[in-house]
Amino acid sequence: MPYVFAPAATVDLPVVGRGELFPVHRIYCVGRNYAEHAQEMGHSGREAPFFFMKPADAVLLAVPGQTVAMPYPPLTQNLHHEIELVVAIGVGGANIKASDATRHIFGYAVGLDMTRRDLQNDMKKQGRPWCIGKGFDHSAPVGAITPAALVPDIATATIHLRVNGQDRQRSTVSKLIWNVAETIEQLSAAWTLQPGDLIFTGTPEGVGAVVGGDTLEGGIDGLQGIAVRVE
Ligand code: MN
Repeated sequence: MPYVFAPAATVDLPVVGRGELFPVHRIYCVGRNYAEHAQEMGHSGREAPFFFMKPADAVLLAVPGQTVAMPYPPLTQNLHHEIELVVAIGVGGANIKASDATRHIFGYAVGLDMTRRDLQNDMKKQGRPWCIGKGFDHSAPVGAITPAALVPDIATATIHLRVNGQDRQRSTVSKLIWNVAETIEQLSAAWTLQPGDLIFTGTPEGVGAVVGGDTLEGGIDGLQGIAVRVE
């Protein structure tokens, strides 16, 4: 039977070193997963991980070696950057144990959880969902995915973001409150993970605003860096 209109295109990410594409299914995000970021957001202590989502088509492919344009989104006066390690799921499952999480991981990428902070804060105050602050169009710039076998030291990698050449965020993945395996255990207890799911694992301290004309350069040791210009 014909469709009433053409179905939406698959959202794809390139895979480093392979002539293959990674088709994106869902985007899960972890909130406040580095202690010093939790503190700068007014929280402390190790709380249970919590999750929110972005639509898959919020992905903005940060083409390797290029600076890609991100339109400044509507309705906000306070667009924030959050540099994050992105985990790409290759094998799905529910109730995955942390000790078994590695075999579910296809690879890793550098991502930005772009945030309309003013709208997110309004929603927090009112006890309303964060969607308008987090899940807007182009809110998930992501680079190419590097297969996990090529980055054995990801758990101790440096993660950093520069804006207009100045350091804004710099930390190490080892400072995650809930590491990647623990995150997969908790996330897969709530949702059945599918191949193609992305997990934004949280951002370190140093989040802040960007404006039109700013260039963001993010990197994690062993992964392809990303560059985004806000327009
Ligand atoms: Mn985030």
